[in-house]
Amino acid sequence: MKAAVYYAPDDIRYEELPRPRIGKGEILVRVRSCGLCGTDISKIVERMVSPPVVLGHEVAGDVVEAGEGVEKFRSGDRVFVAHHVPCFTCHYCRHGNHSLCQQFRSTNIDPGGFAEYIRVPAPNVEKTTLLLPKDLSYEEASLIESTACCLRAIRRCPIQPGDTVVVVGVGPMGLLNLQLALLLGVGQVIALDLIEQRLEVAKKFGAKHSLNPEREDPLEAVKQLTEGRGADVAIVSVGETSAIAQAIRLVRGGGTVTLFAECPPHSSLSLDPNIIYHSEVNLRGSYSSTPEGQGIALELMKTGKLKIKELITHRFPLKKLSEAVTLAREVRESLKIIITP
Ligand SMILES: [Zn+2]
Ligand SMILES: [Zn+2]
Repeated sequence: MKAAVYYAPDDIRYEELPRPRIGKGEILVRVRSCGLCGTDISKIVERMVSPPVVLGHEVAGDVVEAGEGVEKFRSGDRVFVAHHVPCFTCHYCRHGNHSLCQQFRSTNIDPGGFAEYIRVPAPNVEKTTLLLPKDLSYEEASLIESTACCLRAIRRCPIQPGDTVVVVGVGPMGLLNLQLALLLGVGQVIALDLIEQRLEVAKKFGAKHSLNPEREDPLEAVKQLTEGRGADVAIVSVGETSAIAQAIRLVRGGGTVTLFAECPPHSSLSLDPNIIYHSEVNLRGSYSSTPEGQGIALELMKTGKLKIKELITHRFPLKKLSEAVTLAREVRESLKIIITP
């Protein structure tokens, strides 16, 4: 089978790999769509993984073989598959920190979503493989994982109906955060980005206000829109410390800033601790998704209330993964990029 194998930031090869063989409790999936995630880009650009490796984890495809003992799926089923599975019983899982669970970090699909076929290990078959409804396309389904990541981030924020949420960075993840915040009943979402096209999309997706910090002072604007208080919650969907610092200034006393994107390794943030003590600003992070969230994300997609198709702007064949990475790194007109083996 063919796979796109990462060797170095500018060296991704379209190579022949052995088709994985499945064992007991496992399934073999023919990949039909795999989303290119911001974390794939970070791993490639920042050399965060040791090559050679097949990346890609936002998978939808067809079951082509089911191993002994698999009862939930059979050949021909259309499925979504997620890569990491928490154990649900360890100290971290019992505290809701599923993405810090040791099993979560050690489980994965084989070899990765940027391949024609993947082996789905038994724990993933059991917990992170979902049957797709007929009217949900493979490419929409490959956004279940991203949607579940955003859902987790939003649900970890103390949002009340009517609140003001600032989304800093409205790329594909920021636009999902925006939509989910609105679905959960917030009063208004304010979008911040440096790219005008993205700000326009954010408006179409329901942002009450779209601000470009290079053109207007977001602090003034957010204060004006919140009776002088500041936002209740800010979600930083971009991996830049300057964006985090800005978000901290935009929330009210007692507000919450959620970090939701990977900063380059060894980044550091300087912060007046009185913002946390005296102003009681909460700083938190949300990394990855849970099987529960993936199920909810699929149910939400079925309702048609999320704009998913509109997030997908580009499609590349597996062979052209490096072109897709280059386009994503330019951070211009592209939103979600889909790779189709
Ligand atoms: Zn992802
Ligand atoms: Zn665990």
